[in-house]
Amino acid sequence: MIIGVPKEIKNNENRVAVTPAGVTEFRRYGHTVYVQASAGQGSGFSDHEYIEAGAQLLDTIGEIYDIAEMIVKVKEPIASEYPLIKENQLLFTYFHFASSEELTHAMIERKAVCLAYETVERADRSLPLLVPMSEVAGRMAIQEGAKYLEKPMGGRGILLGGVAGVKPADVLVLGGGIVGTEAAKMAAGLGAHVTIMDISLPRLRYLEDIMPANVDTVMSNEYNIRRHIQHSDIIIGGVLIPGAKAPSLITRDMLKLMRPGTVMVDVAIDQGGCFETSHATTHQDPTYVVDDVVHYCVANMPGAVPYTSTLALTNSTLPYALQLANLGWQLACARSEELLKGLNIVNGKIVYQGVSDAFGLPY
Ligand code: NAD
Repeated sequence: MIIGVPKEIKNNENRVAVTPAGVTEFRRYGHTVYVQASAGQGSGFSDHEYIEAGAQLLDTIGEIYDIAEMIVKVKEPIASEYPLIKENQLLFTYFHFASSEELTHAMIERKAVCLAYETVERADRSLPLLVPMSEVAGRMAIQEGAKYLEKPMGGRGILLGGVAGVKPADVLVLGGGIVGTEAAKMAAGLGAHVTIMDISLPRLRYLEDIMPANVDTVMSNEYNIRRHIQHSDIIIGGVLIPGAKAPSLITRDMLKLMRPGTVMVDVAIDQGGCFETSHATTHQDPTYVVDDVVHYCVANMPGAVPYTSTLALTNSTLPYALQLANLGWQLACARSEELLKGLNIVNGKIVYQGVSDAFGLPY
């Protein structure tokens, strides 16, 4: 199959969908890979590395779309890419259709085959192509929280791990899923005292089993949240109710209970956020203060660490991309329920219920 890897053009997107190692794998199975010049630069991969791995370089995004049977990308196409997409062309990338009617209509019109990373689903209902980005964001949440806890950054001026004779910081993690688990592990590793809250008792049991001694598990409810935020230095929001807006677990009136300089990192901001006072921010201007509480609400946290994020993402996407290249999308989806779930739009028709529900379009 002829595979095309364009350079990402969405604002501040430095990831790339296929690494030189990925090119080597595609080549091993006899596929041809065209990579747009400088596509890997933002993630630390030079054109020379791609060429050495067996890719062919093309200068423009137009040439990539023109020649490729399968386009492998990171982010959804933006308006300037729409006219480049051809009928029957397979696009394998994050789409998040339900959040953009314009994109949905554009892909219907282009009659492309849209296989979305975010809806590839395992039999246990886990989403293997979302997990790596949650892992990155969860770990980063503590790094960022620790930074903004420093006095010059607006925080209380507390070192996460404390030192001999001085208590460490208290970190509260709301949601014990992928983000919460990774955040708790990082905070605990730095010596903080960590509390994880979740509404799932089986999940709390599991976490209690695997976490080190400086991590406590507590049932998530308003009473417990109100009590814990009063002595927390960093609060991480990592809750998810699949398919729904995140619940507002910390309301505006609760900010008054906190100490000035407390840092709240709302990782769930991409689902609307789990603090009432959250609004999405960017890496250029990541924080703001409400009632003396520092809010960090960057919606694409993994974008700040493209090298790690690219490798984490491609470790997960490559086996699926290889199946698609080796078998073609029809046979690959017929053989794999996981990939079949990823199909969202096929030749002008919506084939994923969530997308049709979002806009009342035929399914
Ligand atoms: P997950 O499904 O693995 O975990 C969510 C957890 O929240 C579950 O364990 C669930 O039981 C728990 N939960 C639900 N309601 C709760 C409540 N009221 N109180 C406490 N816990 C509750 O999800 P995840 O992969 O960890 O993702 C968490 C959020 O982070 C999602 O919204 C995801 O989109 C977001 N995310 C954001 C970024 C970013 O850059 N900002 C990156 C990756 C993921």
